[in-house]
Amino acid sequence: MRPFTYMRATDAQSAVRAAAVSADSHVRSPVQYLAGGTTLIDLMKLDVMRPTQLVDISRLADSRMREIEATSAGVRIGSLATMREVADHPAIRRDYPVLSESLWLAASQQIRNMAHVGGNVLQRTRCAYFRDTSWPCNKREPGTGCSALDGMNRWHAVLGASEQCIASYPGDWATALIALDASVETLSEKGPRSLRFSALHRPPGSTPHIETNLAPGELITAFLVPAGAHTRRSLYLKIRDRESYEFALASAAIALDLNGDTVRDVRIGLGGPVSVPWRSREAEKLLVGKPLTEANAQAAAKAAFAAARTRKHNAFRVPLGRETLVRALMQARSMEVAV
Ligand SMILES: Cc1cc2nc3c(=O)[nH]c(=O)nc-3n(C[C@H](O)[C@H](O)[C@H](O)COP(=O)(O)OP(=O)(O)OC[C@H]3O[C@@H](n4cnc5c(N)ncnc54)[C@H](O)[C@@H]3O)c2cc1C
Ligand code: SF4
Repeated sequence: MRPFTYMRATDAQSAVRAAAVSADSHVRSPVQYLAGGTTLIDLMKLDVMRPTQLVDISRLADSRMREIEATSAGVRIGSLATMREVADHPAIRRDYPVLSESLWLAASQQIRNMAHVGGNVLQRTRCAYFRDTSWPCNKREPGTGCSALDGMNRWHAVLGASEQCIASYPGDWATALIALDASVETLSEKGPRSLRFSALHRPPGSTPHIETNLAPGELITAFLVPAGAHTRRSLYLKIRDRESYEFALASAAIALDLNGDTVRDVRIGLGGPVSVPWRSREAEKLLVGKPLTEANAQAAAKAAFAAARTRKHNAFRVPLGRETLVRALMQARSMEVAV
């Protein structure tokens, strides 16, 4: 690991001041916030991330950054709440099960105890070429090429990728957040702002090294998830190579409002072979106003992956993704929902 300076911030304002850097520092940003460190320290040890300064935000005095507040309008989740705290919160388990399940099915208990949800949404791809500095990688070193295009691309994206990068976004919770129309509160030297969660991550395009629309040094302070008739009948289905401690090969976050058997409203997030947290509006459109039958779910799943572009080793993820979505929709239909 390379040398760096360490500073423990006492509150959000001082953290943001310490992290204020020039706007062209997206590549290997010289200043990084340290939350749980489970992504950052890992990548520093691999020499993939090389910050020269860490601003420790794990003990900020701002209590609202770790609180979870549930009201009739929705739930506000401070970015410094841990994955375990959010997964285990009674109101979230009852009213937003998809948020809880997507966290329970992520990583390991030790990581969920340590990692914060702000860091969780900003985790980096698990692309093996990105994590090994001996390979060319446009995301790590812009302009060097993408080793995955003709390499081992079983873990890579079929939706949203570009010719410059086919990495997949690995997080589970973000798939639930995008399905539930969450938004993000941030703080920077310019002050606080709010943005839709769907606008947080950037598809790779020709600049895969710029992964989010956050300005350098912009701090995520909270997530807001609006309440709705669909949030109680919600679930997260994750398919992986082994049943625990593994990233998704395919996943689906569903939030469903039924009128009898007919779909009044449905929200669909897809995870696994996607370049950024993915919302499938095509599939939603096909389902609204129709009975939720297996045939209709199959048609929606087909639409969800209609734009898929596969490579040598990842074509299996299209039928797997479709089947995952169909199963998730059928499970959501038969969920028992307390009123
Ligand atoms: C072995 C292993 C298995 C895993 N399995 C899964 C899995 O199955 N599913 C899954 O979803 N995840 C998985 N993860 C990823 C894990 O969930 C993330 O590493 C973790 O959530 C990151 O949170 P953190 O607090 O440790 O972030 P850190 O490592 O501290 O930070 C990550 C990044 O976010 C930035 N950051 C942190 N907080 C903020 C903030 N508030 N505002 C702005 N920037 C911030 C940091 O500067 C850094 O760049 C796994 C990780 C490991 C190591
Ligand atoms: S897929 Fe993206 S992260 Fe992986 S090698 Fe290619 S450019 Fe790098």
